[in-house]
Amino acid sequence: MENMVKKPVVRIAPSPTGLFHIGTARTALFNYLFAKQNGGLFLVRIEDTDKKRSEKRYEEDIMAGFKWLSLENDGFLRQSDNNEKYKGYIKKLIDENKAYVSNEKAKEGEGMVDVVRFRNPGESVSFNDLIRGEITFDTSELGDFVIARSVDEPLYHMTVVIDDFESSITHIIRGEDHISNTPRQILIAKAIGAPIPEYAHLPLILATDKSKLSKRKHGESVSIAHYMQKGYLPEAMNNFLALLGWHPKDDQEFFSINDLIKDFDLTRVQKGGAVFNIEKLDWINREYIKRLPEDKRRELVTEELEKVQEFKKVLGDTSFMSRFSDIVLERVAHLSQISDLAKSGEFSYIIESIDVEPKDLIWKKDATEENAKKHLQYVWETWKEIGDENWNIEFLKSSIWNYVEKEGRGNVLWPTRIALSGKEKSPDPFTLAFVLGREEALSRIQKSIEILSK
Ligand code: GLU
Repeated sequence: MENMVKKPVVRIAPSPTGLFHIGTARTALFNYLFAKQNGGLFLVRIEDTDKKRSEKRYEEDIMAGFKWLSLENDGFLRQSDNNEKYKGYIKKLIDENKAYVSNEKAKEGEGMVDVVRFRNPGESVSFNDLIRGEITFDTSELGDFVIARSVDEPLYHMTVVIDDFESSITHIIRGEDHISNTPRQILIAKAIGAPIPEYAHLPLILATDKSKLSKRKHGESVSIAHYMQKGYLPEAMNNFLALLGWHPKDDQEFFSINDLIKDFDLTRVQKGGAVFNIEKLDWINREYIKRLPEDKRRELVTEELEKVQEFKKVLGDTSFMSRFSDIVLERVAHLSQISDLAKSGEFSYIIESIDVEPKDLIWKKDATEENAKKHLQYVWETWKEIGDENWNIEFLKSSIWNYVEKEGRGNVLWPTRIALSGKEKSPDPFTLAFVLGREEALSRIQKSIEILSK
């Protein structure tokens, strides 16, 4: 007979009661990586049994998040589509005397209700957690816990166990906040005759002050939607999320999704909380932006600047946009900062005409208008000889570098930079001249020469 090794089947089981949380995204990623590296299946299950708190828009947000992160699933299930199935199991447990209907005072509202309670054998339950080792619980304290609000309304523990069983889930990889749910779920699994899956409980994600990351305290920054809107790259996000609790063997920091599938190791996930450090995410994101091909960089910048009226007129000039993208991307950690900077006028000097005063062109006390003019003239005459084909940072620099060294860097570079930007703070003159393009750069220098001649 063929030697069959059982392929893992895992699931991410978000409740659509809020926006897609970064903790859920991290758990989803770990499940996905584990499934893919073992040739298994990754399932998505929407756990919407809590009708009051579940909302369609949250389900949509969660699914959009998976799509953004390219965590494609091999199967999808929504609990509310499966009510009949749960009813059958509840009925069976009652028939077998493993559960019973109990008429009790309603928790909410007035009157009495028929809840379904699990007949708890009260044994000690142990399981081997792949991250934490053996965990044992005394379940007698749990008493006969409620598994359904009524025969038609199963509660969370019941639906989880039934679905995991029916989907043949082999490994339950989820947040550490579910550890205390595990003994109850194991008891139910045994009662319905389901095999007990393997468990791996992932460390919580903590804020830098070591408090639990929560919507109440940390606002929108706990949701994936926030990072989508801020213009983080999904590849960078996955890379960052993978390092929230997992330690690669060496100190490698950058992983493509394929590297992650290859290198990720569930048994090297830490037990202690994983700190969410936004500076690290920013750093990773910058690196990913840097590594993008030129076309892609230009596209992203162009797309972002479509939000800024002033820029509409230059967006069609792809050669300008390619040059411009470089200086813009230098300045940002994530893409929404581009339009923020542009709206605040940070880049206006590049696309609008500038005003320069003679006094601005003079470098410190020692120089004079005459000297500034002489240097600008030299730069202008030299650069005028450079054709479009050689108009690049290196060439612009080497063409005047001997002169710069001889005359003093500040004396030459300062007026050149001011002539090009009109600003005390701006990129170096070679970058500026390159970005502005030959014609515009020469014309700006010439204008400054003119105002110095007056
Ligand atoms: N629906 C649960 C949650 O959103 C997850 C249940 C599980 O993974 O077993 O936290």
